[in-house]
Order: sequence, then C-alpha cells, then structure tokens
Amino acid sequence: MSNDDNAQTPHGERRRTVLKAGAGIAVTAAFAGSGIEARAAADVAAPTAATTTPAPGWTNWSGIARCTPKAIETPGDEAELAAALRKAGAAGARCVGAGHSFTALVPTEATLISLDRMSGIVASDAQAQTVTLHAGTRLALLSRQLDTQGLGLRNLPDIDAQSFAGAIATATHGTGKDLPALHADVVGLRLMTPGGEVLDCSTERNPELLAAARVSLGSLGVITQATVRVVPAFNLHRRVFLKPLEAMLDEAPALAEKHRNFEFYYLPFTGYAAGITNDLYTGTDTVQSPSADEDMLRDLKRLRDWLGWFPSLRRWVAGKLIDGEQTEEAKNRSWKLLSTQRPTKFNETECHVPRADGIACVREVIAALERRNDVFFPLEFRFVKADDAWLSPFHARDSCSIAVHAAQGEPYDYLLSEIGPIYRKYQGRPHWGKLHDLKAPQLAALYPRWNDFLALRARLDPEGRMLNPYLRQLFGVTA
Ligand SMILES: Cc1cc2nc3c(=O)[nH]c(=O)nc-3n(C[C@H](O)[C@H](O)[C@H](O)COP(=O)(O)OP(=O)(O)OC[C@H]3O[C@@H](n4cnc5c(N)ncnc54)[C@H](O)[C@@H]3O)c2cc1C
Repeated sequence: MSNDDNAQTPHGERRRTVLKAGAGIAVTAAFAGSGIEARAAADVAAPTAATTTPAPGWTNWSGIARCTPKAIETPGDEAELAAALRKAGAAGARCVGAGHSFTALVPTEATLISLDRMSGIVASDAQAQTVTLHAGTRLALLSRQLDTQGLGLRNLPDIDAQSFAGAIATATHGTGKDLPALHADVVGLRLMTPGGEVLDCSTERNPELLAAARVSLGSLGVITQATVRVVPAFNLHRRVFLKPLEAMLDEAPALAEKHRNFEFYYLPFTGYAAGITNDLYTGTDTVQSPSADEDMLRDLKRLRDWLGWFPSLRRWVAGKLIDGEQTEEAKNRSWKLLSTQRPTKFNETECHVPRADGIACVREVIAALERRNDVFFPLEFRFVKADDAWLSPFHARDSCSIAVHAAQGEPYDYLLSEIGPIYRKYQGRPHWGKLHDLKAPQLAALYPRWNDFLALRARLDPEGRMLNPYLRQLFGVTA
C-alpha cells in the first residue's frame, strides 16, 4: 500500500491502513459515547483462556506453554551437550529452540537444553550448494550469514525468529506451490541420542534415519548440526492487494500457479482478502515500505470492539470503509520480504489439507469463524509442496495450509472445538507446533510411516528420556 495512503495517528505518527484514510478513527468516534461500546468490548472480548502474567521458569512466545525445569543447560559444543545429557540422566531432557511453538512440545520439569550457544555456519560446499550449520542457529542469523556468502534459503516462514532445529522439528514452512517446507532441503543431520551416541545421517548414509529425523518433534535426540541445500542469493518483487473474498477463493489456485509465492489472508467480517505474491526480481533498485500489518490488525480489532455485537452492521461498515484499491509493492532480498515481524501476539491452530480440498475447507472454516462475533484476526491460507519425511504433514501430499489465530489474552478454545472438526473432515494433518488435539490413533491413520517412526524412536530412546507428558500422550507411549 503506497505511502500516499498513509493516515495520521492521534500521536502524529504516519500510519497505514486497509480502511480508507482515517476511517478506523472515524468508526471509533462515531460510536464513542453511544453506550454500545461498553457492552461490545466487555462481552465480545471477555478473556477466558490465556493469561499473560509472567511466571517463573520458561514460557513459550504466547505464554500458554510453561514449565519450571530442574535445570536449564546451554552447552557450547557436543562435549558439553553429552555432559548435560549425562547429568540429566533417567529424568530426561527436552530441547528448546526459540520457544515459538504453541503446543506443549517443550515443557519439562526435568532438564531443558538450549543450543543458543551452538549457532552459526560451520562450512559451505560451493559445488554441492550446501551449507552445514549449528542446529541452534536462528533463521534470521542464518539468512544474514548466507547472504554474505551470496547464498540463500529457497523459502522461509512468516517470521525468522526460530532456531533451525526447532523449525524443522515441527515442519515449519512458508508458501509456494512448488516450494516444500524447510526440512525438505535438509540433506544431512547430526544427532546425539539421549545415551550420548552421535549419529550422522544423510541422503546417502542412513537415509531412513534422515527421513525420520528431518521432522522429529525433538523426540529422537538432540540435533547438533544440519547440512542444508541452499541457492544463490536472490531478490523478490512482492505485491500486496485486496480482493473480495469470493474472487480471491476463485482465483487462488491460478494465482498459486502463476507466482513463485502466493498466499492470502482473509480479513474476518469484511468480505475482503489480502493477497501476497512474490516473484523473482533481477533488477537492482530496492523498495521496502514499512509493514502495514499492525495497522491493519488495529483497524480490524477496532471494528470488532465497537461492532462485534452487530455482525451485519460490522460487515456493512467494513464494506463501506475498506479501500479495495489499495496495493503495496516491495523489491528486496528474498529473506527481507519472506519473513516479517509479529509484534502482536496470538495463539494459533494450523492444518494442512490435500491441495484439491483447500478452498472447500477454507470456506467452511471462514463460515465457522463468522458464526463467532469475537473473531478479528486474519486467517492465513498457503500452498506447500509435498516431501518424504516420515512425520512431515506434507508427506507425499501437495497441501494447502489453513491457519486461524486468536489474539493473546482472548479465548482460543474454539480453535480446537469449532475449527478442529472441519480440519478432520478434510483429513487435515496438524502443524506439530500449533494447537491441535489429535492423538496417536488418529495420527496413525494420517501418517503412513507413523509406526515406523515410533519403532525408530523406541530404538534410539528406549527409556523415553526425550519424552515429556505431552509427547507420551501424542505418541501413545505408556511405559
Ligand atoms: C509468530 C509466529 C509465527 C510463525 N510462523 C510460522 C510459519 O510461517 N510457518 C510455520 O510453519 N510455522 C510458523 N510458526 C511456528 C514455528 O515455526 C514452529 O513452532 C517452530 O517449531 C518454532 O521453532 P523454535 O525454534 O521456536 O522451536 P521450539 O518451539 O522451541 O521447539 C520446537 C520443537 O523443536 C525441538 N527442538 C528444538 N531444538 C532442537 C534440537 N537441537 N534438537 C532436537 N529437537 C529440537 C523442541 O524440542 C520442540 O519439540 C510460527 C510461530 C510463531 C510464534
């Protein structure tokens, strides 16, 4: 959205909005003092679930997963890691990356191990177009270090705060019909079992272990290094545009065919969706306007707060105020455009459904969301290519990913109770790091290599030292 569309905040900052200039403020002003606002704000947004009170110990990014581990270990090399695992003993250990998962993968009362000190690129192989990196490397650092070598990752998720090992452990992905999730570019891994044994696997050496360890939920051992396929550094041209929802749903498959990266966000109760495309760009000029995401969220929340009790009126007002003509463009290095910041916190569920069912499924999800007056956070719809990792939600299946968010501090139980059944109807495989309530029997039916993974896990970690209560339940491990 161009700078000409900027509006002025009451504090004098320039702000950018999907609503026509100043409209968000106008909505607020129109309803202030009418008596409507008190009821709407209190009843619609009454938090019943997450609290954000800081607690001692460890918490995830959104504050809903927490624990007080007996010890937090930050080894600087494999020898220190082996010592930490020995010290943890039979009580066991869990790894933590950047703590950006919503599910309880990390919490443990035993030992928590962070590889934050095992970070950075170890070696590059120009001929093979691979780099080997320490598993604790954050994606943001990795992109910057690769760039200095004229290299880049093929694709990235929405943010780049994650550690590499944490990201692949849950099959973190971006968007693009021909672009698989991050772990599909992993051609080698180095893993330390809870017993301290170091195992190397690659596409040539022990490929079965690689296929299992690429997406392991941190249950096979501690990944210490990864060898990753990279590409020459490249630039992208990003375009952001608004379309009426029906047009976006009709055109989404064609837009995904046409563009390197395509995704859309549905803006609840507006009838509009924001499309984002990225295409290779070989020019030299760079254009990077500040992100409008936060302003958009503020506008959507404001509409919800004031008109949440009156969905028809909310839709009507949004229809009048939204500026469907707005567009935004940027040209820059791939990693500067593919990942952005998410200052406003949320809780999230995401499911990956067969590509052919993506639009039918998202229609049902949108209808369910709009039966709730409290929803305002945009829904995200992406395309991901199939791969062959055993626990990859994209295993042998080109997919569409549908993600629903609830603002931090607001109810999020409906993500499971109301959206979960729709995902299940379409054979959806949940994002391992995002909220879901599937258990071993349902997962076994969704993953052809489920039992192979469980057998390998039991072989590498017979005492279940790398399991926490959440994983025991997920895997159906009772011993
Ligand atoms: C704001 C936000 C935006 C997001 N955007 C996306 C997105 O665009 N696409 C997407 O797919 N996901 C996205 N996610 C989800 C996120 O990418 C995943 O949950 C990811 O796993 C988080 O990485 P982390 O480093 O924080 O790992 P953590 O959440 O800390 O850990 C995840 C798992 O990795 C394991 N682990 C960590 N380090 C190791 C290690 N060295 N060895 C073995 N196991 C290890 C942990 O034990 C755990 O099981 C987003 C999350 C947030 C909060």
